[in-house]
Amino acid sequence: MRIGIDLGGTKIEGLALADDGRELARHRVPAPRGSYDDTIRAVVDLVDRLERSAFAAHPTAASADRTRNRIGIGIPGAISPATGLVKNANSTWLNGRTLDRDLARALERPVRVANDANCFALSEATDGAAAGAAVVFGVIIGTGTGGGLVVNGRVVAGANAIAGEWGHNPLPAPEDDERPGPSCYCGRSGCIETFLSGPALARDYAAHGGDEVPAIEVASRADAGEPAALACLDRYERRFARAIASVINVVDPDVIVLGGGLSNLRRLYDRVPALWAAHVFSDRVDTRLLPARHGASSGVRGAAWLWAPGTLLALQ
Ligand SMILES: [Zn+2]
Repeated sequence: MRIGIDLGGTKIEGLALADDGRELARHRVPAPRGSYDDTIRAVVDLVDRLERSAFAAHPTAASADRTRNRIGIGIPGAISPATGLVKNANSTWLNGRTLDRDLARALERPVRVANDANCFALSEATDGAAAGAAVVFGVIIGTGTGGGLVVNGRVVAGANAIAGEWGHNPLPAPEDDERPGPSCYCGRSGCIETFLSGPALARDYAAHGGDEVPAIEVASRADAGEPAALACLDRYERRFARAIASVINVVDPDVIVLGGGLSNLRRLYDRVPALWAAHVFSDRVDTRLLPARHGASSGVRGAAWLWAPGTLLALQ
């Protein structure tokens, strides 16, 4: 049995999969915000609960021998290859901690830990929207703009464990009113994330005469034909096309898969590819832009896949 854990900022989701990929159990608990020790305890409790309910419901598919269950964990950051400590987590109480070792000790078995966007990309590349594609770039556009890269079914983590982190590049070819751009929590200004996250879209709408409403409301107002919301989504799509074109120029993915709340904006899948051609160094662009097949479950599914043979290329 494979167990995947998606360690989010507000919730921790857990999934138990049989070796053939069948779902055996799934649970979700609130994340203990701000406390590292409580986070470790919550993961241990969740794994315990998943193992009990999987075995109770599917005694033939789940093993009673807990040491045979493999545990993969997606985190909103990365384990630094240089120090072994968590970095880049917006759940800041995880940063600077030996999370993988502490979890392995608490769970009394080895664990694999990977960035949550890498888990998302792995899930969609394995049996999701990008199944069978050689080079897959996964993007989560929600509270942030995470990214992950999977090549030939394997996660590419990178020398600094930041492969795919396009969101903290500067927005390419900024227009006059996009310079220097909003300041970002990473310490720079004008990062892609400060234009393309959900809160960024909402802020842009308000800054151009709209109400202060969440991104999802801006989207439904655009569907209803409100001019200010339509103009906001036009700006968003032009920015998205410029930003993702720079990814296409570097890794040339077969498929770009979108997850997160803003991936539900159906118009992105036609409009962004129509706009990105102007910024890609190619006479034609055959890259496909697709919504995630597993939706919000992709993070936890990908975490469970971390133990599948051959899924890791450079994961420490
Ligand atoms: Zn940034």
